[in-house]
Amino acid sequence: MALIVQKYGGSSVRTAEHIKRVAERVVATRGQGHDVVVIVSAMGDTTDRLLDLARQVTDLPSPRELDMLLTAGERIANALTAMAIHTLGAEACSLSGPQAGVLTTPAYGKAQIVDVAPRRVRQALDRGMIVLVAGFQGINPETGDITTLGRGGSDTTAIALAAVLKADVCEICTDVDGVYTADPRIVPEARRLEHITYEAMQEMAAGGAKVLAPRSVEYARRCGVPVHVRSSFHTGPGTMVSGSAEDVPTEHGAITGVAHDVSGTKVTVTGVPDRPGTVARIFRAVADAGCEVDMALQNVPSPADGRTDVTFLLPKDSGLAATAALRKVRAETGFAEVHQDDDVAKVSLIGSGMRAHPGVTAAFCEALAGAGVNIEVMSTSEIRISAVCRTARLSEAIRALHGAFGLDTGEGETEGEAATSG
Ligand code: ADP
Ligand code: ASP
Ligand code: MG
Repeated sequence: MALIVQKYGGSSVRTAEHIKRVAERVVATRGQGHDVVVIVSAMGDTTDRLLDLARQVTDLPSPRELDMLLTAGERIANALTAMAIHTLGAEACSLSGPQAGVLTTPAYGKAQIVDVAPRRVRQALDRGMIVLVAGFQGINPETGDITTLGRGGSDTTAIALAAVLKADVCEICTDVDGVYTADPRIVPEARRLEHITYEAMQEMAAGGAKVLAPRSVEYARRCGVPVHVRSSFHTGPGTMVSGSAEDVPTEHGAITGVAHDVSGTKVTVTGVPDRPGTVARIFRAVADAGCEVDMALQNVPSPADGRTDVTFLLPKDSGLAATAALRKVRAETGFAEVHQDDDVAKVSLIGSGMRAHPGVTAAFCEALAGAGVNIEVMSTSEIRISAVCRTARLSEAIRALHGAFGLDTGEGETEGEAATSG
């Protein structure tokens, strides 16, 4: 008998009918003799609708009340799933994140799990029950306030519970049947990976592959939780996320896949005086406003006036806070203007040992050029090449890179061993 943690995403529970199907699947797993802990996300686009409701009430909702509001979505879904399980004759009880002992940092909207005290979960399991835990939420023990874990946070709840309960596996049940070489909704030729290492999955997730939330993969890697990404609707083989690159022999210059992200906004600070301390002051202001910076870039100063531009990406919902903070330090730093551009997307090629292959960067740029995609910002590292482009050109960019790096045919495969059928 195994202990299985199963997480169902929002699209897998978007209607009452979907919830009944999930309940059947949970009861079937229990029927095989396993202990089952289930984490359900809010139904369909509930979280977005609740956020929208808050914005209809105020432009600046209190972060504390926003978390209180959003956690209701997951509670509703878990309670309904428990009821559906009861109708099938099995015993189940749902718990909120705090009831399940999910303890977090105090940061509303982006709290991190610091510990899980699963006493009530264990008690219920010992009584033979199926235990449902509302994902994406916890409590800060000092403030006693309810917190949320950031978008996609139910993945992290599931993996944290799997870690503390020493579950045999954490199944992430979703609306695709595994992790693909690119988003299969954009690239029909994308191939399902049988296996992917934590490292490669972490890079795909950090690049925006939504199928697993970045922080959940980090958690799984740290605690060695085997993760099985699979369809909520049928029992295909899915993708196993486990092990490190050392366990999986790979060639240098290996490509895992293409990830994309439309959640960012591009901020450009123009006419920045070229002297020590100005760029530091700019990024300190942004950091103090609580904004996470990505792809920061400073141009070479113009010989004519000794000024330069600084560009970076931020989550779209941090744009207002960051530009306001920057305008406050404008006089002090002497820069000319701040611009924000929401119409941008980031596409990333994920792999390993890329720096050792100088041709990779050239091939990346050529593939985008061939698709008529203009590169606005670019960065390269050992494991990732990213470019920022117009949102309207994103799909072409993803497909061009996927084709150019042999991912359509499997020639470039390595990090993950691709399945023959998707
Ligand atoms: P859930 O509601 O189950 O949490 P998400 O919408 O968060 O599901 O994540 C699943 C989605 O991730 C898929 O529908 C797919 O469009 C997207 N996705 C992006 N990149 C990938 C990838 N490389 N492999 C699989 N799915 C991906
Ligand atoms: N409901 C939350 C969200 O939409 C958490 C999750 O689905 O994992 O981001
Ligand atoms: Mg998700």
